[in-house]
Amino acid sequence: MAAEKTIFARIADGELPADLVYEDDRALAFRDRDPKAPIHVLVIPRQPLVSVAEALPEDAALLGHLLLVAARVARELGLEEDGYRVVTNVGRDGGQSVFHLHLHLLGGRPLTWPPG
Ligand code: AMP
Repeated sequence: MAAEKTIFARIADGELPADLVYEDDRALAFRDRDPKAPIHVLVIPRQPLVSVAEALPEDAALLGHLLLVAARVARELGLEEDGYRVVTNVGRDGGQSVFHLHLHLLGGRPLTWPPG
């Protein structure tokens, strides 16, 4: 039996709506539905990778592309001057709840470190 599609795979396939801020042939970026900062965008690959832990050497260009998309969206949303954070959660201790790789782009307020 095929694994059930994640929410993000369904967004990537156009089956669920999302507040898109960027898309291209390999990636899309949309606003998090439960934002943890004034700007909270998720950057995902169209390809259904579970997390960076499952990425292979042949995914290197895609992973780099996702970071560049995050930086581009940050610039377009006016975050570059004050700064921002890009994080990806992996597994239970990392706090991952959707098992389709995603980068969180957070900004618009000072972010504390270390995270909780
Ligand atoms: P993580 O806990 O790192 O897996 O992050 C998953 C994120 O996806 C959370 O910040 C959720 O608020 C967000 N999220 C879940 N479903 C949706 C959705 N349909 N549209 C936008 N964001 C979502």
